[in-house]
Amino acid sequence: MKVSEMPYQRITVEKFKEQAEKIIAKIRAAKSAEDLKSARDEYNKISEDVDTAASLANCRFTLNTRDEFYNAEMDYYDNAMPLFSEIENEYKKAMLDSPYRADAEKLINPRVFKGFEMSLKTFSPEVIEDLQAENALVTRYSKFMGELAFEFEGEKMPLSVLRGKLEDDSRDIRKKAAEAIGKTMEANAETFDEIFDGLVKIRTQIARKLGYKNFVELGYYRMGRVDYDEKMVAAFRKSVETDIVPAVAELKERIRNRLNLDKIMYYDDAISVTGEMPRPVIDTPAIFENALKMYHDMKPEIGDFMQRMLDAEAFDVEARDGKFGGGYCTTFAKYKQPFILANFNGTSGDIDVITHEFGHALAADYMFKFAEPDYPTGMETHEYDYQ
Ligand SMILES: [Zn+2]
Repeated sequence: MKVSEMPYQRITVEKFKEQAEKIIAKIRAAKSAEDLKSARDEYNKISEDVDTAASLANCRFTLNTRDEFYNAEMDYYDNAMPLFSEIENEYKKAMLDSPYRADAEKLINPRVFKGFEMSLKTFSPEVIEDLQAENALVTRYSKFMGELAFEFEGEKMPLSVLRGKLEDDSRDIRKKAAEAIGKTMEANAETFDEIFDGLVKIRTQIARKLGYKNFVELGYYRMGRVDYDEKMVAAFRKSVETDIVPAVAELKERIRNRLNLDKIMYYDDAISVTGEMPRPVIDTPAIFENALKMYHDMKPEIGDFMQRMLDAEAFDVEARDGKFGGGYCTTFAKYKQPFILANFNGTSGDIDVITHEFGHALAADYMFKFAEPDYPTGMETHEYDYQ
């Protein structure tokens, strides 16, 4: 099925609640670990419907942040998500409290239960309103950035396109592009400040209500960090400072010499060679054609997966006004279908982003085949390969 043809229907909190409560009652009345396992299978099924609907709504909103229908759906989910979470946490609590938990951990990977424990640390009904406000701010930011027009030499363009000019061979164009970005950001500083300030305040408030000293501690739980903490990351940051920064400084010095510059400026940061930076010399269809060939050469089943992605039209890569400005890979679990959004701007970054996001899509495909939907995976295992 093509992604654009996937039927969308809002799943309401009320409908979900009615289904979930029956499952929670089954967990409480369970007579064996097998009963818990079958209740969990049932729950995962209804949860998949909600995830798919919310993910389709979010995806279609990011493809056109001016779409009225999906704007309204985003408003719905921004408000509904914490209410879905409330029900979900009731389910998780029932699973964790079950006297059959230890036996069930022989049938269900114990990390699933660890993931449930983590999730309970990030929620309490007291923060529902704050979570709704947080979601609304995040959506507002996506919409604002997707629709913001940057002016460069009399022409208006989205940020993702203007960023491509930071790699231009001409230093003058790079400088003008960097300044054009700065000017538009500055002209809208009040909005950015308001959103940022709002997020800091609301997240701090959520963290404190949940009993943490600040958002950092809560942030680790939200990201599903089960194996390391703030202190270990501080040590890692220190190593970046002592080992990586000097190496980068040395490389930058070599680049400065190669480019024959007195001093490397912020608008030189994206370039490293004299003459044109390496960039795709082929158009978008040819990029996909070559990617398909590469993945087939790598491993036939990866090539077949790329072909399935293309058949489903599961890529949207051209930058345009009113489109979310980043890159992401999402999934529509009900259809076992990943989807990739990117914003090509003619730089080598186009190849990086599509390759990077395709890695997520392939991982998602393996998850659909071999893993379980509630198995907790951390962002670091998803992102460690980036550049
Ligand atoms: Zn990524």
